[in-house]
Amino acid sequence: MSIYRIAIVGAGPAGYFAAQALQNSGNEERTFAIDMIERLPTPWGLVRSGVAPDHPKIKTVSKVFEKIATSENFRLFGNVELGTDINTADLVERYDAVIIATGSSLGRKLGIPGENLQGSLSAADFVPWYNGHPDYKDLDVLVDCDTAVVIGAGNVAMDVARMLALEPHELDETDTADHALEVLRRSKIRRVILCARRGAEHAAFTAPELRELSKLEHTNVIIHKSDIEDARARVGETPEKDVKSNLDAMSLVADMAPTNHERTFEFEYLLAPLEIHGTDRVEEIVLGVNKIDGDKVVATGETKTIKCGLVISAIGYEAESISGVPYLKGKVANTEGHVEGTNIYAVGWAKRGPSGVIGTNKSDASEVIKLLISQLPANPKNNGDVTDLLTGHPIVTQSHWEKINTAEVEMGEPLGKPRVKAVERAHLLHLGGL
Ligand SMILES: Cc1cc2nc3c(=O)[nH]c(=O)nc-3n(C[C@H](O)[C@H](O)[C@H](O)COP(=O)(O)OP(=O)(O)OC[C@H]3O[C@@H](n4cnc5c(N)ncnc54)[C@H](O)[C@@H]3O)c2cc1C
Repeated sequence: MSIYRIAIVGAGPAGYFAAQALQNSGNEERTFAIDMIERLPTPWGLVRSGVAPDHPKIKTVSKVFEKIATSENFRLFGNVELGTDINTADLVERYDAVIIATGSSLGRKLGIPGENLQGSLSAADFVPWYNGHPDYKDLDVLVDCDTAVVIGAGNVAMDVARMLALEPHELDETDTADHALEVLRRSKIRRVILCARRGAEHAAFTAPELRELSKLEHTNVIIHKSDIEDARARVGETPEKDVKSNLDAMSLVADMAPTNHERTFEFEYLLAPLEIHGTDRVEEIVLGVNKIDGDKVVATGETKTIKCGLVISAIGYEAESISGVPYLKGKVANTEGHVEGTNIYAVGWAKRGPSGVIGTNKSDASEVIKLLISQLPANPKNNGDVTDLLTGHPIVTQSHWEKINTAEVEMGEPLGKPRVKAVERAHLLHLGGL
């Protein structure tokens, strides 16, 4: 029986699904010993630090991850960062294959004047802030203004806008980080405007998330009927299935009777950000009005200015580079998941860029693992593992993580929350018994 050692870097969905595909590919002649390396003291990637706190059902996929993690021949090395605590060369030398599953964590820039003013943030910072990611707890989120503008037309933009537009009590029974809840409770924001560069038919929202907006109890959600009618006219009688279901879901919201709630969440299409103005902080955003000309989106030359104190851009992500791994256009440079000429592979958002839901990473990882297995040498290396490199470094193993997990869930129970997240690294390590 040959045992191949595989290092998976990143404990998000893609990393776990890669581990699962390896576990399912073991046979009588060959099996895999998996070491999963994760920079945070907590695993689960964006399932913990991305998925919106008011979507707890989505997070139940973590049960699948825990089953994978408690299978034989799987070890978690949490609180270990590739590029800082260990190097790519260390892994490449010791392991038969190295799988980069580190996601895409840097927010794409708008690239407009005023973007660096106080009060202008990226969703890549704002989302982990409300989700209790240790690196973002001190983010300065300005909520002393009436209006916030969110730029983007995908589910991340919608999550961000919804989190700002909700009545904060609606988050009481969620795992929103305590520091964020405290800020959101004193928020003066009553109007959240989501601005999309293209038309309603081009939006990358998904229909279930749109339909859910009709259930918000304390927020007026405004989608202008005329925007949907215009979009329907442009796509004709037989739009693509996803476009049709999105437009149907938007119509559902657009047709809702107006309410007197003081909070509004408004969708504006065909507006592209041009400049953010302000002396010391964001005071207004200037947007260019677009129109659709054939299949192109073109500027009309007109502009629209919105007075606001907070601008959050949610226009995509890029991978953070790790030394020793080649990158191209914000992703690991790979051919179907393989970094040519090496024993390095990539899965998930590190491989594809920021697209796809959690489940997309499963089929993707399974294809990459098939390729990896087909390229394995006849005999394993037997070159050790990372333990000797981490002497004296506090490693969050699976059993430490289980202690953290249990402690968080127990802290949540009396409050009716799924968990209370520990946010400081030292606190997390302490809860793990380290
Ligand atoms: C805001 C947001 C909301 C979303 N909501 C949903 C949703 O509701 N439903 C849905 O299906 N999908 C949702 N998605 C998409 C889903 O989260 C992704 O498809 C999925 O998380 C991608 O998995 P991944 O493993 O590639 O990356 P990630 O989940 O980002 O995991 C990467 C992991 O690698 C670790 N890492 C990074 N660098 C290093 C390093 N140098 N060393 C060690 N570890 C490292 C990170 O800490 C992280 O744990 C959402 C995405 C975002 C951004």
